[in-house]
Amino acid sequence: MRSTSDTGSAYYVAKEVAQLLDCSVDTIYRRLSKGTLLGYLLGGSVWRIPKVEVHRLRDAQRKLKLRPPAKKGRPRFRPPVGQPPGTCPHCDTSKRQIKAGRNRTGTQRFLCRACERYYTRTSAPQGYSEATRREVLRLHRAGESLRTIGRLVGVNHQTVSNWIKAPPDKKPFVAR
Ligand SMILES: [Zn+2]
Repeated sequence: MRSTSDTGSAYYVAKEVAQLLDCSVDTIYRRLSKGTLLGYLLGGSVWRIPKVEVHRLRDAQRKLKLRPPAKKGRPRFRPPVGQPPGTCPHCDTSKRQIKAGRNRTGTQRFLCRACERYYTRTSAPQGYSEATRREVLRLHRAGESLRTIGRLVGVNHQTVSNWIKAPPDKKPFVAR
């Protein structure tokens, strides 16, 4: 153990510690008296603080400073990168779907250029039941017009048209 008078090599005084840790001397005294900084009181208000202890604190402080500052505000939900727009839940079109910013909660919003309406991927469950789709196709085979089918089944005529052109199960529609 080194002698306490050998401050040149093993110990710092409070003022030196304050400079190294970039804080005020008062802070150092407060930490010494609280015990959050290890030091030895020589008498009066003269402290000796082990250098190793100070270096340890300084290194921890540097690591904290290297960390990027925490972002303020609410964390934003972001869907996986590159997730393409899907099918418009309003008109069932998959063409001309573009990204259109984010909603208040940070969810990717899409704009359907076909019907000029916005939607998110996680919004209301998309689509109709298989029975509805089958009924649409059955009526189409029976020769009903798109608008008539739409009225009968309660589906937008554009959706009816989309189903006939490309049914949701991707199987090509056979008219006859
Ligand atoms: Zn649409």
